[in-house]
Amino acid sequence: MALTDQIKKEFIDICGETNVITDPALYGPYTDDFTDHYESKPMAVLRPKNTEEVSRLIKICANHKIPVIPQGGNTNLTGSASTSQPDSQVLLSLSRMKNLISVDTKGDSMVVEAGMVLADVHKCAEENGRYFPLSFAAEGNATIGGCLACNAGGVAVLRYGTTRELVLGIEVVLPDGRIWNGLKSLRKDNTGYDFKDLFIGSEGTLGVITKVVLKLYPIPQEKETAWISVESPAKAVDLLNRVKASAGSLLTAFELISEKPISRVKKNLPDIEVPEITPSPWKVLLELSLSEKREESALESILEQAFEAEEIMDAAIANSLKDSEVFWHVRESIPLADRTEGGSIHSDISLPIAVIPEFLEVSLNKLREAYPWIQDSIFGHLGDGNLHYNFVSPEDPTLTYKFEQELRDILYSCVMDYNGSISAEHGIGMLKKDHNDSFKSEVELDLMKKIKNAIDPLGIMNPGKLV
Ligand SMILES: Cc1cc2nc3c(=O)[nH]c(=O)nc-3n(C[C@H](O)[C@H](O)[C@H](O)COP(=O)(O)OP(=O)(O)OC[C@H]3O[C@@H](n4cnc5c(N)ncnc54)[C@H](O)[C@@H]3O)c2cc1C
Repeated sequence: MALTDQIKKEFIDICGETNVITDPALYGPYTDDFTDHYESKPMAVLRPKNTEEVSRLIKICANHKIPVIPQGGNTNLTGSASTSQPDSQVLLSLSRMKNLISVDTKGDSMVVEAGMVLADVHKCAEENGRYFPLSFAAEGNATIGGCLACNAGGVAVLRYGTTRELVLGIEVVLPDGRIWNGLKSLRKDNTGYDFKDLFIGSEGTLGVITKVVLKLYPIPQEKETAWISVESPAKAVDLLNRVKASAGSLLTAFELISEKPISRVKKNLPDIEVPEITPSPWKVLLELSLSEKREESALESILEQAFEAEEIMDAAIANSLKDSEVFWHVRESIPLADRTEGGSIHSDISLPIAVIPEFLEVSLNKLREAYPWIQDSIFGHLGDGNLHYNFVSPEDPTLTYKFEQELRDILYSCVMDYNGSISAEHGIGMLKKDHNDSFKSEVELDLMKKIKNAIDPLGIMNPGKLV
C-alpha cells in the first residue's frame, strides 16, 4: 500500500509534521547502509517522541497493514533496519526517545529510553558512579534499543556477558499497539515464560522496545591491557586458558587478530599508531579489569610464564590509559581499513573455542582452493569463541560481492561441521536469512514461525528479516 494523504495526516496528527519525513532527500541517516548492500526506500520515516506516540502510530499501521521497521542508530551490518520492499514500509526511528528515566544506585540499575545512544548510556552510568560494560566500535551511534534487538556482544562479553545478561526489564509496544510494561528491576523472577528474553534478539520482528532497565556495575579502578605476538591460534587458545586460570573473572577481553588486517591498518590508515613488537602471524589483545589499584602488575607475571612456556613470542603491556587506547584503536580500525582496501564482506561466526585452530586451517584451505584470489581478514573475540571472519578482494573489489553467497556457503558449512553458529552477535537480518533457514532445524524454524504468528498475526513487524 502506498502512503495516502489520509494516512500521512493520521501520522502527522500524532507526532507532528517535522517528524513524519516523506521527502527522500531528507532520509539520509535513516537509509544510509553501513555495508552499502541495501537500498532502503521507505514510504515515510516516523519519529515519535514517547511510548504513547509509538503505540498510536503502530495502531494506525496495523489498521492499514503497513509494515513497520523499528530503527535505532542504523549501524547494523545485516540490512535488518532497511526496507525489504520499496515504497510500502515505514521506518520507525527511536532517535527522539533518548531520555534517562531513573537510576537506582542501591539496586545498581538504570531505566533509559530505547533510543539512547550506547555512548550516552555509558556517560549516564558514570555520572552516577557506576559502569555499563557493553562496548563496541559503533557505540557512538548504536542505540540501546538496537543493542537489545540484536543482543549485541562487543569486547567485554567474557566478563559481563552479552546484552541479554545486562538487561533486567523492558517495555515493548506490541504489533497491535498495546504496551507491555515489563520494566521490573528484579534479578530473579520465576513466574512463567520470559518474554523479555524473547524480545531481546528478535531484531524488531515482534515489537518495538521503548524502554529498558539496565544492570549497572562498579567502575573498574584499573585496567591492564597487553598487545601480544603469538605464532598461531592454537598458542592463543593456550594463552587464553592460562590467563583464565590465573586471572579468573578479572579477564575482560581476549581478542585474536590476524596480522593481515593489521597490515591493512598500517597501509590504509597510516596515522594510526600500531605497537611495534616481534612480528608474528597473529596478535592477541587482552585486558584485565581490576576493582582496585595495585602496586604490581597482575599481568606481567602471567605473561612471563606464558613466554617461558613458549606460548607467546613477545608482549607490550600498556603503561598508561593512552597506550591502552592505542592498542584498542588498532583493533577498532580494522573494519575501516578493510573497507578502504576494497570488496570487504563481513561475518560474525562463533565456535567452541577448542576447535577454532583446526576450524581456521580447514576453512581457509577450502575457501582458498575454491577462490584463490580471496584475502581473509580474521579477528575477533576469541575469549567467547566469536570471530569476525571477513574477506576483501583489493585487486577487483566486485569479486567478493559477486561470489558472496558462495563464500558464505563454504564458510557456514564449515561452521556447521564444527557445531558453531553463523551469527554470534550481528544477527540475521536480510543478509543471513536464507542461510539461517537452511541451517536451523525444522523444529526450531517451526517454533520461530509459530511465535512470530502468535505475536504478530498480521506480519507487519519488520517483514523479510530473521523469520
Ligand atoms: C563499526 C561497527 C562495529 C560493530 N561492532 C559490533 C560488535 O562488536 N558487536 C555487536 O554485537 N555488534 C556490532 N556492530 C553491529 C551493530 O552496531 C549492533 O548490531 C547494534 O546493536 C545495532 O544498534 P542500532 O541502534 O544501530 O540498531 P539498528 O541498526 O537501527 O537496528 C538493528 C536491528 O534492531 C531493530 N531495532 C532497533 N531498535 C529497535 C527497538 N527500539 N525496538 C525493536 N527493534 C529495534 C531493527 O529493526 C533492526 O532489526 C558493529 C557495527 C559497526 C558499524
